[in-house]
Amino acid sequence: MIIAIDGPAASGKSTVAKEVAKRLGYKYIDTGAMYRAVTWKALKEKLDITNEDALVALARGSNIEISDLKNTHYTVTIDGEDVTEAIRSPKVSAAVSTVSKVPGVRNALVKKQRSYADYYPNMVVEGRDIGTVVFPDADIKIFITASPMERARRRYRELKEKGHKIDLSTVERDIITRDKIDSTRPVGPLTKAPDAHLIDTTNKTIGQVVQQIIDLIKKQLVSG
Ligand code: C5P
Repeated sequence: MIIAIDGPAASGKSTVAKEVAKRLGYKYIDTGAMYRAVTWKALKEKLDITNEDALVALARGSNIEISDLKNTHYTVTIDGEDVTEAIRSPKVSAAVSTVSKVPGVRNALVKKQRSYADYYPNMVVEGRDIGTVVFPDADIKIFITASPMERARRRYRELKEKGHKIDLSTVERDIITRDKIDSTRPVGPLTKAPDAHLIDTTNKTIGQVVQQIIDLIKKQLVSG
């Protein structure tokens, strides 16, 4: 069974997707981490991130691995280097949408994402275009959202906890900018699939959202 979870930046989808995967014992794939890893490497190699050919070559030539979940933790490596923490930096967040709008980059990563289905019959896959492009035949599609202010507050708290010096209005502005680029790109834009269930997490706890998704999955299993 493939469960596709899409939604805008900091909507709470990662937390929810990981918890659902853990509860069901499914493989969890964070596709945002893959775009972030490519961006991290491009910045490290001081590539001009408007040079599409260079970005495509980098995405094609990199080996990105996402480990299995241990409780709700996992690691992301690119060419063997552990970048789990580094890919969450504000610098990577600010550049990732520019990198991920390049069609050739998306092509390379979508191919890799689809190939996971050969190994894992049961997966929770999280991103922006999972229900629309990567797995349009997913068994369950969820589109998670929350108000921009709520999303900014959540991301701000996360970054503060990790020791980043950043203010709330900057986080909010970055999230809105990223959503705009992600929603308006021609290839694989952030959009709700017509058959996706919409869940607004603004006034809900993680537990409530997880339960709502588990109930949808159970219903789906019963109806076949
Ligand atoms: O999910 P997360 O916020 O970590 O994603 C980082 C960025 O990766 C997004 O803002 C988007 O530009 C890109 N992304 C994408 N397609 C996906 C997942 C993420 O373009 N399926």
